Amino acid sequence: MRYLVVILLLSACSFNDVTYSIEPDLNVYVESFYKEALIRGYDLRTPNLLVFKESDLYQAKARIRTGSNGQIKVVFDKEWVDFNLRTYPERVESVMFHELGHALLHRDHAKGCYSLMLDGGCEACYENKPEMRKKLIDELFNPCSD
Ligand SMILES: [Zn+2]
Repeated sequence: MRYLVVILLLSACSFNDVTYSIEPDLNVYVESFYKEALIRGYDLRTPNLLVFKESDLYQAKARIRTGSNGQIKVVFDKEWVDFNLRTYPERVESVMFHELGHALLHRDHAKGCYSLMLDGGCEACYENKPEMRKKLIDELFNPCSD
């Protein structure tokens, strides 16, 4: 019995020690964020990022949670993200960029500017508008003054 308790404790600890884990079908958007950051001179790759899906995320497409030991958790609403991965992948990217803007760029919501950091996100801001994508990503890394 004593060994069983030790094994259970060890497995609980190892779960909490997971420091980099990205939902496979969302990894392309995390990598896209890192690529856009590097183009603009920022190396933001972090070993403490977890990106995953959760059902019934209360009235949100995604949320940021900070865990103990410095983990940054980006949680997507499973139903919203699975639907949009099939239909509007640009929306998944822009919401990912919004959340990573909070988590890795420490940005707050934009107030007076057209930005991916608008409160509630800007999920369709560059859908079918590639010229807007570049402008909004430029603004993400070089915020306009609110
Ligand atoms: Zn936000």
